[in-house]
Amino acid sequence: MPDAGSIYLDFKYDSLEYDTIRFPHGNDRKFIQEIDEAVVNSAAQAIANHAPDLTWVYLEFTDDMGHQFGDSPQFYDAVKAADTQIGKIWNAIKEREKNFNEDWLIVITTDHGRDAETGKRHGGQSDRERLTWITTNSKNLNQYFKATPGMVDIMPSIASHLNLTIPEQIRKEIDGVPFIGPVDIAELKAALDQDGILLQWNLLNPAVDSLTVFTTTTNNFAMGGIDEYQKLKTVSAKEEKFWFKPDSDSLFIKILVSTPHQYLNTWFVKKRLSEQ
Ligand SMILES: [Zn+2]
Repeated sequence: MPDAGSIYLDFKYDSLEYDTIRFPHGNDRKFIQEIDEAVVNSAAQAIANHAPDLTWVYLEFTDDMGHQFGDSPQFYDAVKAADTQIGKIWNAIKEREKNFNEDWLIVITTDHGRDAETGKRHGGQSDRERLTWITTNSKNLNQYFKATPGMVDIMPSIASHLNLTIPEQIRKEIDGVPFIGPVDIAELKAALDQDGILLQWNLLNPAVDSLTVFTTTTNNFAMGGIDEYQKLKTVSAKEEKFWFKPDSDSLFIKILVSTPHQYLNTWFVKKRLSEQ
């Protein structure tokens, strides 16, 4: 898409589920495991031979076994098989590091947990369904990795590993906190308190004395535009909280906090009158 910079993939290996001659579909879904295997072999080969800057791999079979059998030997076997498959990618990475003195990052995660009763379903709000994990080989993890990182934090972490310079306007709108490289604060949240807004954060870098709070009541960013943030105040970082009374009755306020190494934003959304 031109709007996204007309970036194209140098190589893709996808949509194998449409090849029903090579991968005949059966109810046991074994063809998905065979597709995962083909995808892993292709990814490992691409890494070994071409050293792409960024590779994305999706494996599906564990999810299928979860849905069909829930917490079961079939599900656990699928997890073990996926572990072996990812090992092929990891071996390709280690080969590159050994032979070419390269510095590779691998991040492995999952997009959801499963329901506690059966292990079959997901989509609800229970702890087990919402619990995901992240594992990585990074040797440059910061203290936030030991807190509660989530999927949203993976992109800025990869950007940090790649030493990418993200344009300032975009950095202001990134939701995640990098778990690789320098970090100052995390867990920024805003809540209604008395007749104002209480902003709270966790200070991870004690060397930071102050941070600056900005607000805006527009979200032009959603349509590719820019939001003009107004500076509200520079406040003590150690306090880990700041209360303010907004001088606008907008239904939402985007709150941006700036620290030496970071921008971090959160939203304050007023409940509509009908929901109160
Ligand atoms: Zn699923």
